[in-house]
Amino acid sequence: MLVRCPECLSKARIAASEQITSNTRSLYCQCLNLNCSATFNASLSFDKIIRSPKQGSEKPDFTKQPELVANANQMDLTLEEPAPCLP
Ligand SMILES: [Zn+2]
Repeated sequence: MLVRCPECLSKARIAASEQITSNTRSLYCQCLNLNCSATFNASLSFDKIIRSPKQGSEKPDFTKQPELVANANQMDLTLEEPAPCLP
């Protein structure tokens, strides 16, 4: 997920996040532009399901779809506690 700095429009990283409600997560972000380095807060929220699965939904089978295993370099925004940021 790409986050842009509201000050300089450069890429920013999500340094931490916090679950606010069941549908909203607060993101703590830091601009990657060394000449800016602004820190800011953003929100990520669920709005609506556009199309529901026809036969219900189940967790993925990781033996068939290993690409769905969490990437260690990518923060899982669904976790209650923020994942550590890796360099
Ligand atoms: Zn910036």
